[in-house]
Amino acid sequence: MLDIQKIRADFPILTQKVNGKPLVYFDNGATSQKPQIVIDAEVKYYQEINANIHRGVHTLSQLATDAYEISRGKVKDHINAKFAHEVLFTSGTTFGINLVANGFASILKPGDEVIVSSLEHHSNIVPWQMLCEKTGAILKVIPINENGELIIEAFDALLSEKTKIVTVNHISNALGIINPIKYIIDKAHAVGAAVLIDGAQAVPHLKPDVQELDCDFYAFSGHKMCGPTGTGILYGKEEWLNKLPPYQGGGEMIKEVTFEKTTYADLPHKFEAGTPNIAGGIVLGTAVDYLNNIGFENIQHYENELLEYATKRLLEIEGLKIYGTGKNKASVVSFNIDGIHPYDIGSIIDKLGIAVRTGHHCAQPIMNFFCIPGTIRASFSFYNTKEEIDQMVEAVKKAQTMLS
Ligand SMILES: *Cc1c(COP(=O)(O)O)cnc(C)c1O
Repeated sequence: MLDIQKIRADFPILTQKVNGKPLVYFDNGATSQKPQIVIDAEVKYYQEINANIHRGVHTLSQLATDAYEISRGKVKDHINAKFAHEVLFTSGTTFGINLVANGFASILKPGDEVIVSSLEHHSNIVPWQMLCEKTGAILKVIPINENGELIIEAFDALLSEKTKIVTVNHISNALGIINPIKYIIDKAHAVGAAVLIDGAQAVPHLKPDVQELDCDFYAFSGHKMCGPTGTGILYGKEEWLNKLPPYQGGGEMIKEVTFEKTTYADLPHKFEAGTPNIAGGIVLGTAVDYLNNIGFENIQHYENELLEYATKRLLEIEGLKIYGTGKNKASVVSFNIDGIHPYDIGSIIDKLGIAVRTGHHCAQPIMNFFCIPGTIRASFSFYNTKEEIDQMVEAVKKAQTMLS
C-alpha cells in the first residue's frame, strides 16, 4: 500500500495555495507535477556536469554523455526495448509522431491507406493528414460508440492490404478509455501494416512492454510522467528506424559530410540532430526511477480506487453526465452538467483552488461525436486523494448552484 502523505511530501508544488485555497491538482492529463528528486537532478546537472555530449574529449563532456546514455538505457529497460538504439530522445509525443509520419512520406504511394481512430489527440491526427496530403494516401478513421470505445469490428473492416500504418493511442486523453492495442497491433500486422502507439497518457499509469506488444513505434512525453517538459521518447523497431529517412539534418546525425554526399550516423544518432535537451534527457531517467520505486502496480491499484470513488461521487450530482463510460479506463473522468458550459464550471472551481481542464482536450472529433463544445476533465495521479475528490465535488455543486 502507498503512503500517500509521504508521497505528497515529495511534490513541493502540492503545498501551494492557489487563489487563497489549497491547490487540488486534477490536471495530470495535461502535465504531471514533479517530485523534488527530479527538480534537484535538473539543478545538479547544470551545477556539476553541464557540457555538450557525444563530441568532446574533455571530462565534463564525457560525464554528460555517460549520464545521457545511462538514461537512455533506463528507458530501454523500462519499456523493455530490445536495443538502446531503438530508444530515441525527442522533445515529446508530438515530435515522435511527426518524425514517423514524415518518414512514411517516402514509403506511401497514392491510394495507400493510413488508419487513425476517432479517439485521437490532434497530434495523432494532423501529422497523418499532412502525410496523406503529401502522398495521396487516404486517411481512414475507426469510429467510437456511445461509451467512447473503439468499434473494433469497424476497425477489422477497414483493414486491407492497402493499409500501411495504423496509429492509435494506448489511452485516450479526453476520456481515459484504454484501447485494445494488442488486438489492433496483431490484426494490423496480419495485413502487413506498421503500428504506432501514442502512449502519452499510458506511461504515467503503466509500464509498457514494447516487445510483448510487438508495436513498431511507441511515442510518449516525459512531462506527463513526472519528468521535465521538452522531453520525450520515440521507440522504434530497429528495422523500421533503419528504413525511415532522417527527420532533421544537422550536427550529430551524420557520419560524413561533403557537398557531394552526406552519409548518416548509425541509430539512434541518425534521428537526433543538433544539441538535444541534455538535462531533460538525463532527468527523464530520474523520473522513471522515481515511478518505478513507487511501483506501477501500486500506482494502478490506487488510481483505480480514485477513479471509482470520483465516478461514484460525481454521479451524485444531479444533471451530471460522464463521457467515456467504457469498462477499461485510466483515472480520468470527463463530464458535463446539464445546461452549463464546461468553461464556466472550470473558472468557478479554479477560484476554489481546483485545477481541472475544460475544453476539447485537443480532441475535437470526440466532442463533435458527442455534440458538445467540450468537457470538464479531472485526471488523477497517485499523489491525489479522496479528500481532494470530495473538495472538487463540493466545488462543482457550488458552481452549479451559482450558475443555475
Ligand atoms: C499530451 C498528449 C499528446 C501530445 O503530447 P506533447 O507532450 O504535447 O507532445 C499526444 N497524445 C496524447 C494522447 C496526449 O495526451
